[in-house]
Amino acid sequence: RGFDLTDEEMLAQIDAVRDVTLPDAAPLTVASPAGQHRPVVNPATGEVIAHVTEADAETVAAAITNAAPWTAPVATRADVLRKAADLYEANFGLIFAALAKEAGKTLPDAVGELREAVDFLRYYALEAEKSDMAPRGVFTAISPWNFPLAIFTGQIAAGLATGNAVLAKPAEQTPLIAAIAVRLLHEAGVPTHALQLLPGEGATVGADLTSDARVSGVVFTGSTDTALLIRRAMAANMVPSAPLIAETGGLNAMIVDSTALPEQAVRDIVASAFRSAGQRCSALRCLYVQEDVAPHLIEMIKGAMDQLVVADPWLLSTDVGPVIDEEAQSQINAYISAAQAEGRVLHQRAAPEVGHFVAPTLIKVDGIQTLEREIFGPVLHVATFKGRDLEKVIAAVNAKGYGLTFGLHTRIDTRVQEVADGIHVGNLYVNRNQIGAIVGSQPFGGEGLSGTGPKAGGPLYLKRFVQPQAAGAAGAWAY
Ligand code: NAD
Repeated sequence: RGFDLTDEEMLAQIDAVRDVTLPDAAPLTVASPAGQHRPVVNPATGEVIAHVTEADAETVAAAITNAAPWTAPVATRADVLRKAADLYEANFGLIFAALAKEAGKTLPDAVGELREAVDFLRYYALEAEKSDMAPRGVFTAISPWNFPLAIFTGQIAAGLATGNAVLAKPAEQTPLIAAIAVRLLHEAGVPTHALQLLPGEGATVGADLTSDARVSGVVFTGSTDTALLIRRAMAANMVPSAPLIAETGGLNAMIVDSTALPEQAVRDIVASAFRSAGQRCSALRCLYVQEDVAPHLIEMIKGAMDQLVVADPWLLSTDVGPVIDEEAQSQINAYISAAQAEGRVLHQRAAPEVGHFVAPTLIKVDGIQTLEREIFGPVLHVATFKGRDLEKVIAAVNAKGYGLTFGLHTRIDTRVQEVADGIHVGNLYVNRNQIGAIVGSQPFGGEGLSGTGPKAGGPLYLKRFVQPQAAGAAGAWAY
């Protein structure tokens, strides 16, 4: 079943959303008197909107002890997850308010995120029913702040649909949305021993949850550096067969050649690079434009950037909201200042002074260089290439070892095949917007340093949450 409301219907109800007051997170989270009390900040205003009580080491240890797989038949589990999806939809006002105020999401982004979350619940319920298999036991689920509902829910739904217990640690910045989601999952009928929420720091709570021998697997989405830390912790402490299912960062690029339709290319470039303030793992970071069309295309990009409304996400007209927090803001601004000092900033928009905004910025790259690291904000790099150097562009992008998304705008059919054959990437977008997952129809995941696979929202994803079956048995699979 798809989402019942259309985007327009959802947005038409926005006035109702504006009156929603967020609950204080404290009563929703685990009781942990010794744990830290962390303020939750609205990134668009800098205001503290709630406080959460974070888990401490004893709470984590007790949660692992209490965790028990969900033994109800798969049909029951699937029904509960579908009921949770219905509850998410029914509570869309509260969810939109939390996404805007805690994560700085624009309302169209919040609509997309709620849709993705309910799609994950329904899709994994459906997939689990197709082939009931034995759960591994207890999964730790560690999620990022940039999709605090969709990714958080997707990980939990996969773990629960397959009958595992899930210990969910949301990102430090977004515990409120996590608390709302877990409350709705419990209300739908997920037993409390099968799903426990453990808000807290990655370095403490996250590290404890990924280095306990009683945990049977970890599902993680976040930066590549953190995934590497988790892999080391797991290798030192867990059974060798415990899987790490990781979705990580990218250095996403796009090629626009001289045959591309410029209006279409520019619309997709600007949407991918700047919507969600560039805080999508799939977002375009580095654009390679064929030399002869570059001056014209770059002028068009500047013009499209000038149309972006950079403002509080609570306003319906906003295209670009804030970045997640002060630390992200100052790191990205320092990067932009360094480029400015080198005379490489081609264009920049103004951004509001109050709140954690970063001005959308276009930066020039000399030659066929690739980026050294992921800049997780509204910053687009542009390089030019000569037609005969297309292979060099592909080789340079591959050489970095990341392989999340790649975009191509061209009208030459053979070029599509050439790029598809050459680029090492999880998701390739041809003549269209370079965005993330569409659950069930566009599974999402990266290669190399961008993730372990299998792709989230795809038919193979649940296989890693269950015990492998003996080779040759019906429905067997290898990994
Ligand atoms: P992050 O790695 O800093 O944090 C992610 C999570 O890991 C948080 O919950 C954090 O508390 C936890 N964590 C940190 N240190 C830990 C440790 N030592 N042990 C266990 N857990 C720990 O990432 P972020 O800043 O929250 O998210 C942005 C990153 O996520 C970007 O790199 C982005 O590309 C990536 N991302 C990837 C995808 C994808 O599908 N490939 C999707 C969304 C985000």
